[in-house]
Amino acid sequence: MKIVIVGAGISGLTTYLFLKKLLPLALPPSIPLEFVIYEKHHAAAEKGHASGSTTVGGALGIAPNGLHVLRDLDQHLFQKVVAQGYSVSHFGMRNAHGWTIARFPATDFSNPPIHTVLISRQKFWDCLRESVPDDTIVHANISEVACGERQRPRIKFADASTDVEADLIIGADGVRSVVKRSVTGDGEQDSLPAIFEGLVGVGGFIPATTLGQNYPSGQLTLTFGSHGFLGYGPCCLMPEADQSQYGSNRADRIPSTLANDAVWWSTYQLDHLPETANIDFEDIKAQFQQRHSNFKDPIIQTIISNVNIDSIYPTWTTPSLPTWSDSNVVLVGDAAHALQTSSGQGASQALEDAQVLAMLLAHYLRQCNPELQIENGISLALKQYVELRKPRVERIAERAKIMGDMKRKKGMVEEWVTYFFIWAMGVLPRKWNSYDLFLLGELPGEKVREFLAGEDEGRGR
Ligand SMILES: Cc1cc2nc3c(=O)[nH]c(=O)nc-3n(C[C@H](O)[C@H](O)[C@H](O)COP(=O)(O)OP(=O)(O)OC[C@H]3O[C@@H](n4cnc5c(N)ncnc54)[C@H](O)[C@@H]3O)c2cc1C
Repeated sequence: MKIVIVGAGISGLTTYLFLKKLLPLALPPSIPLEFVIYEKHHAAAEKGHASGSTTVGGALGIAPNGLHVLRDLDQHLFQKVVAQGYSVSHFGMRNAHGWTIARFPATDFSNPPIHTVLISRQKFWDCLRESVPDDTIVHANISEVACGERQRPRIKFADASTDVEADLIIGADGVRSVVKRSVTGDGEQDSLPAIFEGLVGVGGFIPATTLGQNYPSGQLTLTFGSHGFLGYGPCCLMPEADQSQYGSNRADRIPSTLANDAVWWSTYQLDHLPETANIDFEDIKAQFQQRHSNFKDPIIQTIISNVNIDSIYPTWTTPSLPTWSDSNVVLVGDAAHALQTSSGQGASQALEDAQVLAMLLAHYLRQCNPELQIENGISLALKQYVELRKPRVERIAERAKIMGDMKRKKGMVEEWVTYFFIWAMGVLPRKWNSYDLFLLGELPGEKVREFLAGEDEGRGR
């Protein structure tokens, strides 16, 4: 059985690792299993360098639901990611006037608790990449997925290399996915292109010592104002060898030492994207400083006077697709559902996709026999994957849109309504916060196990 994964980002690598773990147990030894991951960025195909799309934004937060998936995948990998990152237990929600208006937990209080981990994007990608054998990743740019002989999907290469057929093609190729076009029936066209949300981010790292004594540990500080948003939190950039003091970082406790670095990012409204060649970074920096000049937090004032800006990160999302699979082709991660960054869930949802897809494939392929051919097992798994995953991701996307809108330009009334809304969410007891309950109470691994147990029961097993 041949499985092709297009894209070696977070979703492609995690999907490979889950499939590699679960499928050999499901398939009889008479069916050999072959994997290839195609990655268009040479640097990302090589160990030690993430692609541009993997590194944008500097750091990311892996939420407890995403960390549960990593722990299910591989305890060692989970510990490594946690040790390389920095745990935070809560979000401190502030307004531009310097008031803390709410504190939201960033922790799953299961036993043991799991805190959110802030980690540099490159380090997280490195942890995943180190678990994938070099010869599984091939440097190639995929141009299209077409239908091959006996309805088997076939990938085509941009450099006109010979097409490759597979039993299953997994599109993990990000927000501008080419695999998506085969799933939505678009061929060479893209009738559902990525959407520019009118929001742009700038961000980077700063030594934590610059930020002074009052820099809060264990907190991700999110400050909203009338002209944009600025967030900062602890993160460590040191190479692994210098990281002995963080080697004991654990997901269930906040490190006692302050991180050496802090990550910061700011999101603001921009209705039209400038041409790349015309971007004036000095002007962007001046506007950034102007936007936050009246923010009362002294840490923010230190950040804005000490940073350089050399990149901007426009927020692109995937429109809601009618489906994520067709025939034996399926989408995972941003290819299926790039979310607004305000969700804090892009990576975690990519991890959840990988786990659910692999569990379902393993289940249905285990049942393959002369009556239930491999193709049928795959299509049953893909159908269930979409049914289980799509509603969850759509709810997260809706919530992310509300949070994203809070970062847009606001008049005075709207500004104070935003603060009131955040305050009101903060005073609600956690057990009434249906979004939180949904995010952590319906972990995908458990949901699939429940679903499969129900199916087995229905069949009288
Ligand atoms: C500024 C910013 C901040 C973010 N912050 C957070 C956060 O705090 N928490 C969080 O959970 N998420 C966050 N995210 C989202 C998160 O980074 C993404 O959701 C996640 O990286 C998606 O991974 P992916 O593998 O699906 O896609 P990608 O990382 O885009 O990977 C796709 C891969 O496919 C390759 N590829 C593309 N096309 C082809 C082709 N034709 N042929 C071969 N290879 C191809 C690309 O080179 C790339 O390596 C943020 C995103 C941004 C932009």
